[in-house]
Amino acid sequence: MRYEAPETLNAAVKLLAGAKGVGKVLAGGTDLLVQMRSGMVEPDLIVDIKHIPETRKVTAEKGGFRVGAAVSGAELDENAKFAKAWPGVLEAFELIGSTQVQGRCTLVGNLCNASPAADSVPALIAAGAKASIVGPKGRREVPVEDIMVGPRKLSLTKGEIVASFLLPARPARTGDAYLRFIPRTEMDIAVVGCGVCLTLDAGGACTAARVSLGAVAPRPLLVAAAAAFAAETRRSRIGIPIGLHHELEFGAFGVTALLMGTLGTVQMASHQIALNIASLTFMVPLGVGAAAAVLVGRAVGRGDPIGARYAAGAALAVGVIFMGTSAILMLLIPARLASIYTDMEAVLGLAATLIPIAGAFQIFDGIQVVSAGALRGLGDTRVPMLIGLVGFWLIGLPVSVALGFGAGLGPIGLWWGLVAGLGAVALLLLARVRVRFSGTLIRVVIDDADAAFTPQG
Ligand SMILES: Cc1cc2nc3c(=O)[nH]c(=O)nc-3n(C[C@H](O)[C@H](O)[C@H](O)COP(=O)(O)OP(=O)(O)OC[C@H]3O[C@@H](n4cnc5c(N)ncnc54)[C@H](O)[C@@H]3O)c2cc1C
Repeated sequence: MRYEAPETLNAAVKLLAGAKGVGKVLAGGTDLLVQMRSGMVEPDLIVDIKHIPETRKVTAEKGGFRVGAAVSGAELDENAKFAKAWPGVLEAFELIGSTQVQGRCTLVGNLCNASPAADSVPALIAAGAKASIVGPKGRREVPVEDIMVGPRKLSLTKGEIVASFLLPARPARTGDAYLRFIPRTEMDIAVVGCGVCLTLDAGGACTAARVSLGAVAPRPLLVAAAAAFAAETRRSRIGIPIGLHHELEFGAFGVTALLMGTLGTVQMASHQIALNIASLTFMVPLGVGAAAAVLVGRAVGRGDPIGARYAAGAALAVGVIFMGTSAILMLLIPARLASIYTDMEAVLGLAATLIPIAGAFQIFDGIQVVSAGALRGLGDTRVPMLIGLVGFWLIGLPVSVALGFGAGLGPIGLWWGLVAGLGAVALLLLARVRVRFSGTLIRVVIDDADAAFTPQG
């Protein structure tokens, strides 16, 4: 057996490429020497890479770290900046063997030993690390998850060496961790190991996840379904409050209809006419609000806060102008509008009284629905939902009941309660729009795991 200790990567590659029989790289030797002793491997050539300067350094690169192939776990552990950026990788490394073993062993050796149970590999995969491979055909960068293809099998070709790892810049609000399960409490091989790297948005919701499992398959796995789950969680966190907001609004109108039903058939019929007219005009600002959500979202996504503010402001103006116009019609010609539906005197008379009240809440209705849309463009849905709860259920309905039944105003009292509810919601949402759009507009990342790794702003 020949032992060589070259001082350059090129020399090491040349030796391995030209080796007759089995050529092996020696890093820390904590696997290789044990395997040689037990007769598992009998190399004809051993190339020790510890004398090659490039393999002995940890350097800053692209906001992240390049870790040389011969840097030991103990050396990496002492790098405070690395420990701060990627604590999960070190957490995995610190589980390998003992203090003595960690004084020699390397991250690259752990990967290139090609054991499905290697502890640091899931952590490296979760962190999005890439291996820099040098060989007879030059250098290439390969994601760590593509290096090991099965037990004791690597995707490296003859003469190739892993020279270093590149750990990327850690995105804002990102953390990583590694946990393993072992049958004993001391020095054992993982039965399952799990590396996780999560990114949160400013609101604390998970926007991206990389999860890797070791020891459960012939090679460590990058579990894409976990990232999809995180995105799904994000979608639900945005979507469920939107659904509840609709429920709160339409629910309040539904309860008003139930209360109206207790007053009589004429009251119910008149209510239905006024509500139908108000619902028809409501469709326009509803659409404008949906457009505001899209336009604001796109503007924030492309990093254009001025465009986002303009989209929100223009949508509010369109909503207010349209609803102002419809309000004028409802205030000026309520009887004619009601006559489209019926010629029953009693119903016509009451409907003609309710339609102007609908006219009174037109502008509020327009403001509230467009404001909610603009806020959705920012991914802001929980506070608007709470505003809906307060406005419709804690202000609007109690006012309806107090005026309709307490003060004996009947249908008219119930409708003034709707005005109070919509007015409260509109003013609170408008205040929310002012606050959110005057602050920093942050991009919401939903399902693009790679995009989540670019700085947010
Ligand atoms: C007592 C003891 C306890 C251990 N406990 C654990 C544990 O808990 N968890 C765990 O995961 N491991 C454990 N190990 C295994 C071992 O320590 C790790 O796998 C270690 O990270 C290997 O690193 P090394 O630098 O010593 O590799 P080496 O032994 O030098 O090399 C390992 C393999 O990788 C190849 N190789 C090394 N460097 C390169 C390179 N740059 N390019 C291409 N191929 C290369 C070698 O040829 C060899 O086949 C333990 C080992 C011992 C002896």
